[in-house]
Amino acid sequence: MKTLSGKIKRAATSLIMPVDEKRAGECKRCGSCCMFLYKCPFLKFDDSGSNMSLCTIHNLRPPQCRKYPRSKYEKAHEPCGYYFLE
Ligand code: SF4
Repeated sequence: MKTLSGKIKRAATSLIMPVDEKRAGECKRCGSCCMFLYKCPFLKFDDSGSNMSLCTIHNLRPPQCRKYPRSKYEKAHEPCGYYFLE
């Protein structure tokens, strides 16, 4: 239940909170954050062998997706291509 409330809280705070300036790295398209609690219906995987994830509404994706992970406290998936500088 705590994870669900965390997901709801993150969706709400992502509307106004910026991404931490200490975030570095890049998305490796593993798709883990798109399958947290449930698989996003807009998530697809490249079936040509790479198995990389693809957001089918990438240009329209909501702030909680666009900004993930917004801070080191929010980062819940490993391995993720993003990290936070100290
Ligand atoms: S967990 Fe990180 S690397 Fe994987 S899809 Fe999400 S943002 Fe990208």
